[in-house]
Amino acid sequence: MEVAVRVFVFLFGLAWGSFLNVVIYRVPEGISLLKPRSFCPVCGNPIKWYDNIPVLSYILLRGRCRYCGATIPIRYPLVELWTGLTFLLLWANFSPHVPELLRGLIFTSLLIVLAGIDATKMLLPDIFTLPGILTGVLFSLFLRPGIKSSLLGAALGYGSLWLFYKLFLLATGKEGMGFGDFKMFAMVGAFLGVENLIPVLLISSLTGVLVGLPMMIIKKKRDLALPFGVFMALASWLIYVFKIDLIEVSLRLMP
Ligand SMILES: [Zn+2]
Repeated sequence: MEVAVRVFVFLFGLAWGSFLNVVIYRVPEGISLLKPRSFCPVCGNPIKWYDNIPVLSYILLRGRCRYCGATIPIRYPLVELWTGLTFLLLWANFSPHVPELLRGLIFTSLLIVLAGIDATKMLLPDIFTLPGILTGVLFSLFLRPGIKSSLLGAALGYGSLWLFYKLFLLATGKEGMGFGDFKMFAMVGAFLGVENLIPVLLISSLTGVLVGLPMMIIKKKRDLALPFGVFMALASWLIYVFKIDLIEVSLRLMP
């Protein structure tokens, strides 16, 4: 029975991921989420239901549009699988606690959508980050990390990246990141609390360097702009769904 429930949770996650793909593509383009029905952005043909099954259709179509052969971005199955995995982990770690599950659904959906839009458009739209900050604070009224830590997390999240941006600008004359990054970090602080700001920053900078350096070498570009929101989303996701407590881990590792 437990296995059947997990399979259902995973499938539901894949379907939700399919919806998040629609949000990632349509919101920055200003297209309504409700209509028209899904279409190929290259040839405009509507996508039939049997070509719209999460992950499976991508494999059966070998990543190409049935009509014009245009490549379907790998982002589609990746977002679906990421969301499916997220649902499994949320279920394993937080059920049957309904408020925590609800917050998990909202927070991880925001992270996945922001990562997807930043990866494709180098944008972190206010329409997600600002309500995200508010939602994170509201949930913290009755859930961990508590309202004080949440408010401090939002304020210091915004302030710390803003300060970094100003110092970087003074030192190099370049803009290292944008205002969307500050607001997203404020949202992460509101959900995870002030104590998780440094762990998120550490993990996202580290993964950013690990991905960015090889890309800079391959593309032979010194000032390659990386979507920092993608790495911030991954780091926050890891800490949230696995309930990682970096401070506790480092204390335990000390002799
Ligand atoms: Zn097409």
